[in-house]
Amino acid sequence: MENLFDIIVIGGGPAGISAGIYAHRAGMNVLVIDGRDSTLKQAKKIDNYYGVFNISGEELIQKGIDQYVELGGAYKEAKVVSVKQNFESKTFTVKATCGEYCSKAVILCTGTSKKKTLPQLEKYEGTNVSYCAVCDGFFYRGLKVAVIGDGDFAFNECEELSSVANQIYLITENKNVPNIKNVQVVQKKVADFVGENKVEGVVFEDSSRLNVDGVFVALGTMSSFDIAKRLGILMKNNFVLVDKNYMTNIAGVFAGGDAIGGLLQVSKAVSDGANAGLEATRYIKVMEHYGREGN
Ligand SMILES: Cc1cc2nc3c(=O)[nH]c(=O)nc-3n(C[C@H](O)[C@H](O)[C@H](O)COP(=O)(O)OP(=O)(O)OC[C@H]3O[C@@H](n4cnc5c(N)ncnc54)[C@H](O)[C@@H]3O)c2cc1C
Repeated sequence: MENLFDIIVIGGGPAGISAGIYAHRAGMNVLVIDGRDSTLKQAKKIDNYYGVFNISGEELIQKGIDQYVELGGAYKEAKVVSVKQNFESKTFTVKATCGEYCSKAVILCTGTSKKKTLPQLEKYEGTNVSYCAVCDGFFYRGLKVAVIGDGDFAFNECEELSSVANQIYLITENKNVPNIKNVQVVQKKVADFVGENKVEGVVFEDSSRLNVDGVFVALGTMSSFDIAKRLGILMKNNFVLVDKNYMTNIAGVFAGGDAIGGLLQVSKAVSDGANAGLEATRYIKVMEHYGREGN
């Protein structure tokens, strides 16, 4: 199957590309999906990475991607908008802006992450404010919800909700929204939210009000926080928790680089990526060995 890979690496910064290089050279069929927004792009000059100095962050990233592609690894510049676990087949479905793919293991190398929200929602946390349509959409069957966000991640959340909610209001500044069932686009700026014990309505800067039963927040690009929420991955202080084999609490999901915290530097990200790539390879080989024995 064309879209089936052994390993999908989400993120193509130093950690993701290093994971890709090691797993590819260990014989795995690897796909790196990368939003090309590494924090390293902000570094004007790198002088502290082994064997390389007086190089810009942008250049160092490009050299890494070129090296991986030259070695034969598959690379797509795109944004991942959803990751789902298929329990029966022990695989993962990764949906991105470039298509939908399946893999036996996933490596999260999405960089630092924190929950993206609006300050006005803080007092409603734990009520009818959600950060995951696939987790909480069920509670809004036949009801009216608002989705707040500007990109493909928000559009995907609308799609997830379109089969349950009766009416979805996508509150966005984006003027190019695809047609999605039950979705009405609201191009206004949020001023505040109203409601006694939960959000009952959104108030816009033009003072108009929209009554809703719930609010879904999907700001920016899907981060490790968002992926963790959907797969049930444990996090601590905004970092993904991994064991000594770089595996999360979900079998088959690995992580490395800034996403798991510690020293937030290229050298550590590259080391994490190499380890996560090799551990994911080992995981797949063990799974396949037991699969063959079972047959
Ligand atoms: C200003 C600045 C200067 C720095 N200078 C140095 C330095 O001199 N030396 C040094 O060692 N370190 C430096 N760092 C730190 C270094 O940039 C990071 O430690 C390193 O980039 C971490 O690598 P990573 O692969 O974990 O994450 P990142 O490099 O942040 O890469 C994450 C990748 O994941 C992608 N991604 C995220 N979400 C998705 C999604 N949903 N779908 C697809 N792709 C996604 C992003 O687009 C990005 O390409 C600096 C950082 C900053 C901010």
